[in-house]
Amino acid sequence: MRIHEALANKQTFSVEVFPPKGDLPVEQALSMGRELAQLSPDFVSVTYSAGGSGNSENTVRVASALRRELGLTTCAHLTCAGTTVDQIDAFLAQLKEAGIHNVLALRGDRAPGQAKGDFAYASDLIRHIKEVSPGMSVGAACYFEGHVECEDFATSIEHLKMKCDAGADFLVSQLFFDNDLFLRFREAADRARIKTPVCCGVMPFTSVKQIQRMAFTCGATIPARVIKRLVAAGDDPAAMREAGVRYACEQLVGLAAEGVDGCHVYAMNRPDVARAAYDTLAGCGYLAR
Ligand code: FAD
Repeated sequence: MRIHEALANKQTFSVEVFPPKGDLPVEQALSMGRELAQLSPDFVSVTYSAGGSGNSENTVRVASALRRELGLTTCAHLTCAGTTVDQIDAFLAQLKEAGIHNVLALRGDRAPGQAKGDFAYASDLIRHIKEVSPGMSVGAACYFEGHVECEDFATSIEHLKMKCDAGADFLVSQLFFDNDLFLRFREAADRARIKTPVCCGVMPFTSVKQIQRMAFTCGATIPARVIKRLVAAGDDPAAMREAGVRYACEQLVGLAAEGVDGCHVYAMNRPDVARAAYDTLAGCGYLAR
């Protein structure tokens, strides 16, 4: 199934996983995937880690195994910072071989001293994929608060429009903790005539440290109501986990009420998080739409 076709027919529920580290990433991913498969997600996206961590090789392996063994629709992430056209084409050939028709085309974060590569921005990668793999459903990242490196929100919307004009078929958002930011983004995207469907990415907070990292790496605003919950959970890890999942589920209920195109859950390889999101969305009637 191509993701943009699913989005044309229904509001989607999807989950992000990252290739497990260690010796048996595929086996571990399959055991997690079996629990995810019970939730019938519209797609599972598999992250890509550039920079020789080994994780990038596992993106296709994991996406392929989840598709082949469990029948899940998978989307492989792909970054282009510092890469050549040949490297990208080799990755696309692997996807084709594995029967994967969905790719999330990203620039990735630039590493200091990294080679320039053949692609400056994700829009260049999207255009290239559309040219060489026309059957591929190509996704792009979007940022409800603007990308952290971009000087202002309006410019970030202009850059997003470039990705849509380059051929992006669907968008997946960066995590965010305030649904009003989504509403502001939706208005701005409408004004910019961006018609590409958007899957809203929601991630539960798990600790003060994690949320601080998110604030700095993604530029995510932390609303006072989240800070209050972090304070209330104190240094009890179980209470913190529960508070984070509950807050994420409240966000999902709000997004469902807004009639979003898709809800994408950053489940951090925890099937219990995906299950809580699924139960919440089923409970408010979203999954039946
Ligand atoms: P781009 O769209 O190219 O934008 C990058 C920056 O350049 C932005 O500041 C943008 O405003 C600016 N820009 C764009 N076009 C122009 C232009 N023409 N002129 C001037 N400036 C321009 N990273 C990973 O390494 N692996 C992953 O698996 C991964 N998955 C992700 C999934 C999602 C849903 C999201 C939201 C992010 C993910 N990332 C991942 C992080 C992503 O790689 C970073 O956010 C990266 O910094 C930007 O990638 P991009 O594709 O949005 O880049």
